[in-house]
Amino acid sequence: MGTEEQLAHGQGEAPARSCGGCTACCKTHEIEELSKPANRWCPHCKVGSGCAIYFERPPSCRDFGCVWLNLPDALPEDSQRPDRLGVVFSIFNQPEVTGDPEGKRLRVFVNEVMEGRLNTKAAKRALDGLRKYADERKAGPRSVARVLGSATSSGEPDPS
Ligand code: SF4
Ligand code: SF4
Repeated sequence: MGTEEQLAHGQGEAPARSCGGCTACCKTHEIEELSKPANRWCPHCKVGSGCAIYFERPPSCRDFGCVWLNLPDALPEDSQRPDRLGVVFSIFNQPEVTGDPEGKRLRVFVNEVMEGRLNTKAAKRALDGLRKYADERKAGPRSVARVLGSATSSGEPDPS
């Protein structure tokens, strides 16, 4: 495992955690710059290890807001790492995503690594914890979009 493989794939110069052996978002997310569809492994991904083009990875990868990686208070458990949980939570506060010009509202996206994983007790507990985390900060998430399989249903009401 090279050094770059232990670095974070996602957002931030100094994320709170390291991706370690997780490469879940390299499957779940569409990467427009690479014409990579959602739910297919990126051709540059060394599954369970890291990114073969880490230092040249496109902006979509660099800017990815993985909750587990960046907000350990929101998903505190190691078992909630996306590859272990089977669910990737990502969070945005950019006005163009949330519709809130003040940036106080959060929007959470949920991607299943494997279909059905959001229905597990562990994933539901993680989602509850994430809501609690956001509620305590009076920031939502008030709009949870479920992204299941290749079908994106962005903007659906919170399923709770
Ligand atoms: S899902 Fe999160 S922890 Fe896993 S590889 Fe992507 S950024 Fe890293
Ligand atoms: S370019 Fe790298 S970080 Fe981006 S999806 Fe592919 S393997 Fe993952």
